[in-house]
Amino acid sequence: MSQLKGKVALITGGSRGIGEAIVMKFAQEGADIAFTYVSSAEKAQAIATKAAAFGSKVIAIQSDASDFAQAEALINEVIDAFGRVDILVNNAGITRDTLMLRMTEEQWDQVIEVNLKSVFNLTKHALKPMMKQKSGSIINMSSVVGIFGNAGQANYAASKAGIIGFSKSIAKEVGSRNIRCNVIAPGFIETDMTHALTDDQKKAYTDNIPLKRLGSGEDIANACVYLGSDLSGYITGQVISICGGLNT
Ligand code: NAP
Repeated sequence: MSQLKGKVALITGGSRGIGEAIVMKFAQEGADIAFTYVSSAEKAQAIATKAAAFGSKVIAIQSDASDFAQAEALINEVIDAFGRVDILVNNAGITRDTLMLRMTEEQWDQVIEVNLKSVFNLTKHALKPMMKQKSGSIINMSSVVGIFGNAGQANYAASKAGIIGFSKSIAKEVGSRNIRCNVIAPGFIETDMTHALTDDQKKAYTDNIPLKRLGSGEDIANACVYLGSDLSGYITGQVISICGGLNT
């Protein structure tokens, strides 16, 4: 259980859901970790303490990933604390679901800024230390919705499709520096983001999933361990759907 021993990981949005599962799994695998949150300060501190019990150094930092200057300050803080950053997981994300005819400019802008601009912000600033190190693994959290779209989620689907084009471009730009950039496209994962679904809606989705269940944060975290570790050293520019076969 030490696939990430000696590595430093930065995970955005680690205070709940998928991000929390990634923090815990990375700690179990021996990584030192910085993770961010926006509003869940108490929860974030509790997660940092729990993760540190595996023997890693873990710090929780309040930082809005959609803010360019805060992203730069965050990377500087991580370098000051750990001296390097080996794995960047751009996980922070929000939804503001509604049909196109009702969608406001604010709902569009918020989702694009938190889900897509954040990936630019963090990648831009993390690339400098990764280039110096001549190594790095960037993992960007998209969604199956970014691949096949979804009524009521034009803003979210656009942000998640944007992440895929961005990541493939970065993979081509920095592959020669031994920096990899891959995408995970989760299907329906049980977190706060999907708690709003009714039982009937969940059943309808589950009926369409070949593996006949919703996913867990751990299902996604396991793939992050693989993409962050040297086991995936020859994989870059790829999109891995973790969706119980939904995207088949
Ligand atoms: P979640 O339970 O709602 O948690 C979101 C996390 O992001 C929280 O830690 C939150 O911090 C943080 N966050 C929100 N805005 C942020 C910002 N501006 N800067 C930094 N952190 C921010 O979401 P989730 O379901 O775990 O989703 C995680 C990622 O997976 C998202 O990118 C989502 O789009 C993607 N995804 C999820 C599903 C799913 O079914 N759940 C499916 C496909 C893709 P606070 O706690 O402080 O608010």
